[in-house]
Amino acid sequence: MVSRRQFILTAIPAAAAVATSGRALAQTRLDETEAPAVALGYKHDATKVDAKKFPAWQAGRNCANCQLYQGKDAWGACGAVGGKLVNAKGWCVAWVKKA
Ligand code: SF4
Repeated sequence: MVSRRQFILTAIPAAAAVATSGRALAQTRLDETEAPAVALGYKHDATKVDAKKFPAWQAGRNCANCQLYQGKDAWGACGAVGGKLVNAKGWCVAWVKKA
């Protein structure tokens, strides 16, 4: 039987490791060449979006004013790309006006 002390000594470091690895994954910047980025037409710089291929893009639309952008920093997590970091000045076709 596992004592309370043994449980705490093993569970806390394990939980910390899981939290740390999750944070590391979430803090990874999305690369424009990754499949989700390519599929969504994501660019770190919204002015570089292929407007012919993605006519939904309009000047002024960017990650910073998208509903899916998390945070207020230059890079923020986005659920549309698995929680990876996208640039506040970026854009993709999943853009939704921030409420
Ligand atoms: Fe940027 Fe929004 Fe597209 Fe995410 S869904 S990459 S925040 S425009």
